[in-house]
Amino acid sequence: MVEVQIRGRGVSDERVLAAMRKVPRHLFIPPELRRFAYGDEPLPIGEGQTISQPYIVAYMTAALELKGGERVLEVGTGSGYQTAVLAEIVPLVFTVEVIGPLFEGARLALEGLGYANVRFRLGDGTLGWEEEAPFDSIIVTAGAERVPERLPKQLAPNGRMIIPVGSGFQELVLIVREGKGFRKKKLLPVRFVPLVSSH
Ligand code: SAH
Repeated sequence: MVEVQIRGRGVSDERVLAAMRKVPRHLFIPPELRRFAYGDEPLPIGEGQTISQPYIVAYMTAALELKGGERVLEVGTGSGYQTAVLAEIVPLVFTVEVIGPLFEGARLALEGLGYANVRFRLGDGTLGWEEEAPFDSIIVTAGAERVPERLPKQLAPNGRMIIPVGSGFQELVLIVREGKGFRKKKLLPVRFVPLVSSH
């Protein structure tokens, strides 16, 4: 998976590659689909949601340019797989999921694997996590029609955020907090399940 799908397509960040090698992806996938866990595809995880293709997980993580000391906010815990990849690289991950059974399942999986550096919240992640802001990095793993306005405001100076933006199909957009403003860059066409918002 790592050599062919990820390094072979140009992700070269060694921290990301090491994390992708280490996290047991099959433990985040429903038992009946585990034989496909290391394939080059997204998979259903229940509740109409999906775990992203390994390459996309690696690509998005690499876009954050993590050095190893960051506080990271993740919106859309889902299976908890992306959370685990982040938790291998940084000391503290805050993750928010809106669907109860997925929130519970991810917490069980991550705690079962011994990840003690993840804080979980059940709720609407488009609000961010105000009490714990600012974050050095924010990663949104569901497709937003537009960037939820509260999220970039919770970035630290020079903080980086990656989010799929668009309706139906999306583009991964990188947002970097620079001085008083934000720099935006479109990176890659993708397709994610929709980000739901209660406000
Ligand atoms: N990163 C996940 C991908 C999960 S799919 C993984 O590795 O498995 C996207 C997830 O975002 C779904 O679980 C969905 O329920 C969640 N989601 C959608 N809208 C949300 C919101 N407003 N706040 C928090 N989570 C949300």
